[in-house]
Amino acid sequence: MQCPICEKNKKHNPSEIYRNQFIVVSHAPLDANLLGYVYIEPVEHFEDWSDIPLEVLSDVQSTVKKIDLLLRNEQLAERVYSVTISEMVRHIHFHIIPRHKDNSMKGISLIEKATQQLSNENDELIQEEQFEKFILKAKQFLAG
Ligand SMILES: [Zn+2]
Repeated sequence: MQCPICEKNKKHNPSEIYRNQFIVVSHAPLDANLLGYVYIEPVEHFEDWSDIPLEVLSDVQSTVKKIDLLLRNEQLAERVYSVTISEMVRHIHFHIIPRHKDNSMKGISLIEKATQQLSNENDELIQEEQFEKFILKAKQFLAG
């Protein structure tokens, strides 16, 4: 069976921020329209939590800490949400979703909007330039 996450991580992905032996970090698509929204995915295909080695989970957690710091440094988040759903795509992955201080949408509504990529016409759209700039900054931050 084809897994979109495994497929994506075999190819060159311009939104990829960081990779090591355990995990891949990439920015969510421009269509999600949320700057700083990143995915953390174990390199290996795991569908159940009980199958994920602790060293992989521990690497995910230390990466969440770094991303949290980055999002705060960049003034992109007052709160940082982390969710795992892995319903449509079974490969367990982590959504790190920043909630900006000026964002009126919070909690589950924001998570739903971001993960389903439901940005509407009234939203201010992220420019490709901002997007690329953030990815570059995140690459340097996570590599350092
Ligand atoms: Zn997979």
